[in-house]
Amino acid sequence: MIREILAAFTGLSTTLTSMLDKPVTIQYPEEKRPVRPRFRGRHILHRYENGLEKCIGCALCAAACPADAIFVEAAENTDAERYSPGERYASTYQINLLRCIYCGYCEDACPTEAITLGLSYEVSFAGRDKAVYTKDMLLEPAGPQGKSTPQQTPAGVYTRSVPVMENPAD
Ligand code: SF4
Ligand code: SF4
Repeated sequence: MIREILAAFTGLSTTLTSMLDKPVTIQYPEEKRPVRPRFRGRHILHRYENGLEKCIGCALCAAACPADAIFVEAAENTDAERYSPGERYASTYQINLLRCIYCGYCEDACPTEAITLGLSYEVSFAGRDKAVYTKDMLLEPAGPQGKSTPQQTPAGVYTRSVPVMENPAD
């Protein structure tokens, strides 16, 4: 009998102690909890400083994706209408976020570091078709030093699709 009473008091003491703890409730969306630096959230398609798109439409990310979530279609760049360095750019780029398992293989496979998984976790859809994020939704805006795409560029300058690596030993 005494054992049962003690057990009841032990339980109550746990409740009373936790009542004094600081609440952990976050008032989302006004308050947002910071994520870890290596968090894998919604994808971002990046640009170079001059505004050209890093994505060259090679579809290596789509090939590496275990969930078959990425669809890429490529088209030819010209100097009069250039989207990315090199011959080709992604005319269509789509990710089905309902399929994505946020593994990061697309990021690893990309030869130009065009795609990364960002820190945004605010992803919700009102229908299955809304879960397909298009290039317009994924592509970051051009920075202060750059222009949006397509750009008119001088002939013979942007011939390399993949930038020269600073330290090829890495
Ligand atoms: S994070 Fe993984 S599952 Fe999602 S698109 Fe990239 S490779 Fe595919
Ligand atoms: S994101 Fe990278 S891997 Fe995917 S198509 Fe573009 S350049 Fe190729």
